[in-house]
Amino acid sequence: MRLHYSIEACAEIFEAEVLGSSPDSILHVYFDSRKIQQPKGALFFALSGHSRSGNEFVADAYRQGVRFFVIAKNASITFEPDAVYFKVNDVLAALQKLAKYHRKQFSYPVVAITGSVGKTTFKEWIFHCISDKFKVVRSPKSFNSQLGVALSLLEMHESASIAFIEAGISKPGEMKVLQDMIQPDYGIFTAFGKAHRENFANNEEHLLEKWTLFRECRLAFIPHAFADLENRLPGNFQVCPTYENHRFPSGYSGMLGVLNTFLAYLQFDAKEIAERIDSLPTLALRMEVFEGINGNTIINDTYNLDLDALSEALIYQRQLAPGKRRIVVIGLSEKHPHERLEIERLVESFNPDEFHFIPEGKSIPWEDFHHAVVLVKAHRDRAFEYEVARGKALKHRTIVEINLSAIKHNVSFYQSRLPKEVKILAMVKASSYGSGAEKVAPYLQRAGISNFGVAFADEGVELRKSGITSSIVVMNPDPEHSDLIIEHQLEPAMYSFEQLDEFITALIHRNISAYPIHLKFDTGMHRLGFSPSDKERVLAVIHSQPEVQIKGIYSHLADADNPNHSSFTQKQLASFDAIVSYFRAHSSDSFLAHILNSEGSLRYPEHCYDMIRLGISMYGYTENNALKTSLQASVSWYSSISQIKLVPKGDFIGYGISYEAMEDMTIAIIPVGYADGFRRSLSNGKGCVYIHGIQCPVVGRVCMDMIMVDITSVSAKINDIVEIIGQNQPMDVFAKAMDTIPYEVMTGLSRRMHRVYVEE
Ligand SMILES: *Cc1c(COP(=O)(O)O)cnc(C)c1O
Repeated sequence: MRLHYSIEACAEIFEAEVLGSSPDSILHVYFDSRKIQQPKGALFFALSGHSRSGNEFVADAYRQGVRFFVIAKNASITFEPDAVYFKVNDVLAALQKLAKYHRKQFSYPVVAITGSVGKTTFKEWIFHCISDKFKVVRSPKSFNSQLGVALSLLEMHESASIAFIEAGISKPGEMKVLQDMIQPDYGIFTAFGKAHRENFANNEEHLLEKWTLFRECRLAFIPHAFADLENRLPGNFQVCPTYENHRFPSGYSGMLGVLNTFLAYLQFDAKEIAERIDSLPTLALRMEVFEGINGNTIINDTYNLDLDALSEALIYQRQLAPGKRRIVVIGLSEKHPHERLEIERLVESFNPDEFHFIPEGKSIPWEDFHHAVVLVKAHRDRAFEYEVARGKALKHRTIVEINLSAIKHNVSFYQSRLPKEVKILAMVKASSYGSGAEKVAPYLQRAGISNFGVAFADEGVELRKSGITSSIVVMNPDPEHSDLIIEHQLEPAMYSFEQLDEFITALIHRNISAYPIHLKFDTGMHRLGFSPSDKERVLAVIHSQPEVQIKGIYSHLADADNPNHSSFTQKQLASFDAIVSYFRAHSSDSFLAHILNSEGSLRYPEHCYDMIRLGISMYGYTENNALKTSLQASVSWYSSISQIKLVPKGDFIGYGISYEAMEDMTIAIIPVGYADGFRRSLSNGKGCVYIHGIQCPVVGRVCMDMIMVDITSVSAKINDIVEIIGQNQPMDVFAKAMDTIPYEVMTGLSRRMHRVYVEE
C-alpha cells in the first residue's frame, strides 16, 4: 500500500470527529492487530468482528507502535495522549469511503470481476496474460468482500496502468455498495454457480443483483451462456463466444471465452492470445490436485471456506469425477459454527456420495476412502495441511523396486533343482543384499524358509525385531556381542579357539547349556575359519563343554562361479568332506553340514550335504549363463526427470567443466548420485540411463546427489520415468559399467532411497 493522506484529509473523507493531532501522514491501513508489520504511518480500523469488538485490538495495536485509529463513536477505550482517533458512526463504511476516495485519484481503467465462481481464477489468469504489457494492480488473494474490495482499491498506485478488482456478495443490496466504491470502467462476469442461492428469490434476481456492478461500465464482458439475457441487461454488454483449451476441463470454456474476448479488446492478436492461454499456470485453479492413498484423488482447497470458493471446488470435483465416488470433507472451525447449515445445504445440493464434517481434534478417516475423488475444504485456522498430507500417496523421485514374487520364484527354482531333503539357508546379510531385510526376510519366512544367515549380530537382532522366529546364523560374530547373541537366540559361527572360549565363558556366566553354535572351517579361501587340522582340538573342547552343541559345520568356496570344475574347488570339497566325516564319526551332535553358495549349488549338486546357502541367485542374479533365463531379476532402480535444459554448443556441463557440448543439446537432470550408489566412475559417457527405452549417456561428472544425461534424441518431459536398472539396463550390464559385480551394486544402493515392494 502506498497511501499519502494527511490527518485533515482523512477527517474530511470520513466525516469524522478527530481526537488528537499529528503532522505525520497515513501511509497504510490495518484492521488485524496480529498482522501489523509497519506501525509507522499505519491507520488502524477497529472493525467489530464476530466475537470480539475491534476496540480490544486498539490497545494491542497501540502497543505495537500504531498511533492512528478509526473507532466507533460509542467505543469505550483509553485514549492515549500521543495518538490520533477518528470517531465515526460505522468503521467499515469509513474504510470504504477512503477506498472510494483513493480509487478516484487514478484515471487508468478499473476492471471489476464478479460471478459466483471463478473470480480469483480469472484474476490470476488475466494477470498472467497481460502483466508483461501492463502494470497491473490486482486484489490480493481472494479479497472480494465489503472489506476485501476496499483493501484491494487501496492497493492502487500511480505507476500502474490497469486494476482488476474482485467483487463478491452474499446478500441482496451489497453489490450497490461495491459498485459505488469501485466505479468500474469495465466489467467481467465469470460464471454463475449455486452459491448463496437461498438468499435470493430466484436466479434472475441474483444475476441482476450481480450485474448492478456493471451499471455504469463502458463495457461488460459476459460468457456465452447468458446470451439470451443480453437485451434485458442494463448497460453495455459484450457476449463472449466459448473458447476450448485441451488443458482445461470443458467447464472452463465459458470463462476462457471471456478471457479471449477481453484480451482481443486489449489489442492482443489471435496468435498471442493462443500462446498465452496455452501457458496459463494450472496453479491458477488454486485448488491443488494430487494422488492419494488407496487410489484416491485429492482436491486440496484448505485455504478458506467461503461459500463461493466451496461452490467452485464442488463444481471442479464433479468435473474431475465422472463415474467416480465423490467424498466431501469439511474442517469447520469452532469459531464459525453458524456457517455449518449453509455449508451443509450447498454441499448437499451437489449430492456427494459421502459428506464428512471433521470436528476439531479429530482426523480425516483416509483409511476408509477408496478410489474416490476427495474434496477437502477447511477454515484456515484448522491448519489442515497435516491432515491432507496424511492422505497423500508418498512420491519418491528415486526408488528401488523389489519384486518379492521374483525372489519367491528363484527360491522355488532352486528347490525344484535340488535333492528334496536339502534345505535352503537364505542369506539376508547387509539388509538382504540392500533390498531391505525387514521386508524380504519375513516374506521368505512366510514362504517356508526356516534358516537365515547374517554377517553381524545386530543384523540378527533386526531380523528378530521384524518377526523372524526361525534359526538365524551369525557368520562373523564379534566377541563383544555374545550377550546380544544369547539374548536374541542367535546362533554364532565359531572360527577360532579364542572366540569359542569367550563365548563358552559367557554361557557359563549365564548358566546356559547346549547352546547351538556353528563351526566354520577354512578349507582354502583363507578368510575366517578353523584350519582343517584343528578339527580334533575343536572336538575336544566341545566334548568337554556342555554349554555348547554343534548345530552346523560349514565352509565356503573361493572359486564357485568358475564354469570349469576347478581343481581348487575339488580340493576344498575334499577337505570339507574329511572334516564332516570326522565329526559325524566322533560327535553325537546331529549337525547340518553345508559348503555351497548360489553358484556352487547347481554346479556341484552332489556336494549339497544338508543345506545350501542361497544369496545372490535368490535375488535373481548369476554368472551361470545356463541359469540366466531361469532366474528372475528382483531389483529395479528408477528415478524421474527433475529438470530439462537446452545446452548451446560450446557450453560446459557439470563440475570441473569436463564436458563440452559439441552441438546444441538437451539434457535432463536426474536426482541420483554417487551417494546413492551411482558411482562417480560412470561420469562422461561411462554410464547411462534409459528414458522411454532410449539410452541416455551421462554427461559431465556424477555429483553426490545428481546426474546430467543427454536426452537430445528423446522427447521427454519433466517427471518422466528414468530407468537406471531394469528391462533395458539389466543389473549385470550396469555392474560391468562400474567395473564391479551385482553384489556390490545391490549393497551399495543408499538407504536414503525409498524401497518399494511389489508382488505379482
Ligand atoms: C554371502 C555368503 C553366502 C551367499 O553367497 P552368494 O554367492 O550370494 O550365494 C554364502 N555363504 C557365506 C559364508 C556368505 O558369506
